[in-house]
Amino acid sequence: METVEALKFLSPEEIPHLAERYGTPLFVYDLDTIKRNYDYFSQIPAPYGLTVRYSVKANPTRAILAYFNRLGASFDVSSVWEARRCVNAGIDASKILITAQEVSAGWEELCEAGMEFDAGSLQQLRAYGEKFPGGQVSLRINPGFGSGLVKKLTSGGDHSSFGLWYAQFDEALALAERYSLSIKRIHLHIGSGHDSGILEKTVNRALELCARAPGVTHLNLGGGYKVTALNSDPQYDHHAVGARISASLEQFHRETGRQLHLEMEPGTFAMALAGSLITRVIDVVNTGGDGYRFIKIDGGLTELMRPSYYGALHPLVVVKKDGSLGTHDVTPQMVCGHCCIAGDSLTPVAGNTEDFTPVPLARAEINDYLVVERTGGYAASMSVKNFNSYPEAAEVCRAGKGSYHKIRERQTLEQMTQNERDLPLER
Ligand SMILES: *Cc1c(COP(=O)(O)O)cnc(C)c1O
Repeated sequence: METVEALKFLSPEEIPHLAERYGTPLFVYDLDTIKRNYDYFSQIPAPYGLTVRYSVKANPTRAILAYFNRLGASFDVSSVWEARRCVNAGIDASKILITAQEVSAGWEELCEAGMEFDAGSLQQLRAYGEKFPGGQVSLRINPGFGSGLVKKLTSGGDHSSFGLWYAQFDEALALAERYSLSIKRIHLHIGSGHDSGILEKTVNRALELCARAPGVTHLNLGGGYKVTALNSDPQYDHHAVGARISASLEQFHRETGRQLHLEMEPGTFAMALAGSLITRVIDVVNTGGDGYRFIKIDGGLTELMRPSYYGALHPLVVVKKDGSLGTHDVTPQMVCGHCCIAGDSLTPVAGNTEDFTPVPLARAEINDYLVVERTGGYAASMSVKNFNSYPEAAEVCRAGKGSYHKIRERQTLEQMTQNERDLPLER
């Protein structure tokens, strides 16, 4: 039988303790892991300097933003709202670059305070030029190809609306000239969980464009760096990729005399493995001798939509209620969430959002725990919040074993319904 997955940073005996102290479902984020991930990324080789921007959409909880700020990170935001959450967390606007599909009202004030603007279309470039003629701007490019874990996570190529289509670069240059804008940065984010080989192809395309825009000083390669989450996942060496990119930047320097500052925007890499979701087993059912054994947990789509939305596999670890791993008794089991919807399953067939398949887990009984790993990013921030009117889960930061800080309270019913208003139904 395949080996069962292991806990990432928690030790089994912490699970019942945390569950009793804070209730379940509970997100736990490990500060040491976040720091290690950030340090690993900031040490990627780059001959002319490197800026690491934490991609806020992975996890925008205030304490997490403040922690990245203390580590020295800059920030990638996907909306004006995320930018405001950064500012509210004490982050200087000048450390923020906005790359958004929707640039909503209020972006101008943030730019006046120092936020940098990444135009992802001709329309966005025009809007920036009209408001800030003579200013500095970035251009997000769709290089004509992309790569991602699944198609839904691919943000380059002709089926993707993200960024300015590379063949329209001259139009963008003309528009920039019309508003006397200087293009400081070329930005590309081709997908999440991309093949590392494609990054070099991306860099080559980006450098062709940089050669045509002499004012560009910064090359931003976006995020998408893979993590080793499952036993079956390979190891990834992002420093080796960095070394190959460095060689291209040095070549560009020899040819043009220009030294491009590199930027990277890890979201998944920074956070995914730094978070665990602790849930409690609330029921165990089976569908007969030829069927399956199902573990039902007190979390699911309401905390994590990646399995049902992408067919993404997360390491699942059963912890017995006494804090042991129970791995002497491993059996294939399906795991499903608490929502009354058939798609709330945590055991999809990889990459397939329609089919489910059991995974080997320690035999779970009611009141044991199931820990869902790889849930530090794109879990709390991207869940089907309040479906079935389950409240948002609490979030805790772990500063070493035994030291925990609550950074988000569990939502109350009053908070869930606070914006509802009654109809005037008299008589
Ligand atoms: C989402 C996003 C990222 C982060 O992607 P990950 O796959 O989480 O690393 C970085 N840059 C931009 C522009 C993004 O939209």
